Amino acid sequence: MTKKKVILEVNDVSRSYFEGGKEFKALEHIRFDLYAQDFVCIVGPSGCGKSTLLRIIVGLDRPTSGEVLFEGKPIEAKNPQVAMVFQSFAIFPWLTVEQNVELGLEARRVAPSMRAEKAKRYIEIVGLTGFENAFPRELSGGMKQRVGLARALATDTVLLCMDEPFSALDALTAQNLRDEILELWSDPALPPDAVLMVTHSIEEAVYLADRVIVLSGRPGRQVAELEIDLPRPRNRREPEFYGWVDDIYSLIV
Ligand code: ADP
Repeated sequence: MTKKKVILEVNDVSRSYFEGGKEFKALEHIRFDLYAQDFVCIVGPSGCGKSTLLRIIVGLDRPTSGEVLFEGKPIEAKNPQVAMVFQSFAIFPWLTVEQNVELGLEARRVAPSMRAEKAKRYIEIVGLTGFENAFPRELSGGMKQRVGLARALATDTVLLCMDEPFSALDALTAQNLRDEILELWSDPALPPDAVLMVTHSIEEAVYLADRVIVLSGRPGRQVAELEIDLPRPRNRREPEFYGWVDDIYSLIV
């Protein structure tokens, strides 16, 4: 069997905050590897440090101890191969769809001559063709999240990180976007190679992930790393699906 390529190494990451001279531990001893073609979800109760961990992984925060390596090197926030999609869309209301997508390319230092072309291509991939010149106020929540996704993918992203990306959307829109993310991820011709997603929804994690990293409540400690071997597309009504949901639920409580 050929060994899968390691993309990301989370090596014994801990994060403390200091308030009034007192140490407050948010995360303790998190360690896992992420491989090419992985779809990994991190689940855990609210406040267990999931967002903190993801921010550390994309280089927006630093661990108190431990390290995160992307393709063998310490992660940096400006790495164009790692991108983040946030729950709150994080798009600029005063910029058009195309300008929002181009902004991501600019931040990742893509040459100006290539920005418009790339932005248009990814706007098409996420299904927003025709809305290039629309402003965010003219878009639904699902469309705003597509803009965030186009911006995240446009730098030919290897690793797509997502922090609760569907939780601000209605159920139907969220389900459509989940399936579209799975499609993008499984298409070898399109980015991303791997997805790392934080969610508080165990069902969502079992629906999407190959592997689920389970964190316990404060401080966030890794209590399990599970391989979800259900065939895709997955059916939430099947007993095997519910078996996984129940197993993870009992690990968290
Ligand atoms: P989750 O995403 O699992 O809900 P977070 O990563 O947002 O959890 O937060 C984990 C813990 O760390 C929480 O108790 C939160 O209040 C605390 N925390 C997060 N960011 C900061 C910060 N910048 N300063 C102080 N405490 C923080």
